[in-house]
Amino acid sequence: MTRPDREDPRTLGDASAAVHAGNAFDARTGAIKTPLTLANSYEFPYDPTSLSWEETDQLLYTRASGANQLGLQAKLARLEGGEAAIALASGVAATHAIFFTYLNAGDHVVASNHLYEATFNLLAEIFPAKYGITATLVDIADLDAVAAAMRPETKLVFTETLGNPTTSVADLPALAAVAHAHDALLVVDSTFTPPPVLRPLEHGADLVLHSITKYINGHGDGLGGAVIGRTSLIDPLKQLAMMDVGGIIAPFNAWLITRGAVTLPLRMRHINASAQRVAEFLDADPRVAWVRYPGLASHPQRALAARLMPNGCSGMMAFAPHGDTEALNAFVSRLRLITSATSLGHDESLIAHFARTGPRQDLYGPPFTEQGTLRLSIGLEDTDDLIADLDTALG
Ligand SMILES: *Cc1c(COP(=O)(O)O)cnc(C)c1O
Repeated sequence: MTRPDREDPRTLGDASAAVHAGNAFDARTGAIKTPLTLANSYEFPYDPTSLSWEETDQLLYTRASGANQLGLQAKLARLEGGEAAIALASGVAATHAIFFTYLNAGDHVVASNHLYEATFNLLAEIFPAKYGITATLVDIADLDAVAAAMRPETKLVFTETLGNPTTSVADLPALAAVAHAHDALLVVDSTFTPPPVLRPLEHGADLVLHSITKYINGHGDGLGGAVIGRTSLIDPLKQLAMMDVGGIIAPFNAWLITRGAVTLPLRMRHINASAQRVAEFLDADPRVAWVRYPGLASHPQRALAARLMPNGCSGMMAFAPHGDTEALNAFVSRLRLITSATSLGHDESLIAHFARTGPRQDLYGPPFTEQGTLRLSIGLEDTDDLIADLDTALG
């Protein structure tokens, strides 16, 4: 257990809290890091008949809570500024948990039309077909369209903080006002903008969702998902998604991601600054056709981005050099440092080439449909090395 005389992580700054929140000294050995506990079961008290099996913070069985899972949840709640958190096996498991818990047959969702692929499949295809739940997908930047899409049976408004791959910025306070006027919850996928870059709960969101596979782990080596919010909203997720559906995070992944999250504020400070410089380099280079990064003056929502992310706009940008699909593939093949692979928020910078057109891509409009899109996730390398790599590959 944490010693009572330790500083309360709630009163600490972000970097200190990322180090200490959720870490407990091991009472038996005195180890100062919460050990990895792989046991599925924990010893019962003398009278197990008095136990409440609805409790998800007592150590009985790892599907309800394990020591590493509890530590990770405490750290995530502190970092996002929420009362409680649930950690699950993947970002998709966390997304499913929210829909499965908070939607019933006949309910309706208003969601951004720029969504992560699996989120789109769940909302637009799987839940409608299986459960008669319907979704209206709208341009989330068009607040009139969002308001017009709301119905009496709308239970959730769902958006990503930054659209993938467009980097369009969701106006969270305005969306919260629309959602709450209809007694709906605002649910925000903040995977692209981890704390302390942006904290959706401070801007009116009810639940924040993360693929902790990405920035929060930060090292590209473990899958996980999390939801953070008020205890009254997280507890039902724990009952349904953990106890009854069982999509829990494995103790090893919880341990790994807890360790990764220790450096999150430090990493984001570097990534914010590095991404800004890389975006400015691309923006100024005539060999580049277009760039979208919320920290650039050329971004159509720069003012909103500055309000939501005053200390830097995270590490995700989209751009394309001049030329066709083949020119973009050739450009990527000339990169020597930046890795061509999916995912984001890793220690290494990653680039992904998305198709120019297709049923989803056509929604993005120009410039995304002109050349195709390269999505760049800035990692922890030296900024000068990244710029040199891009410069050489531009030829
Ligand atoms: C990766 C990602 C997810 C899904 O997370 P997994 O951990 O891969 O299941 C959801 N939303 C966004 C924005 C993502 O980038």
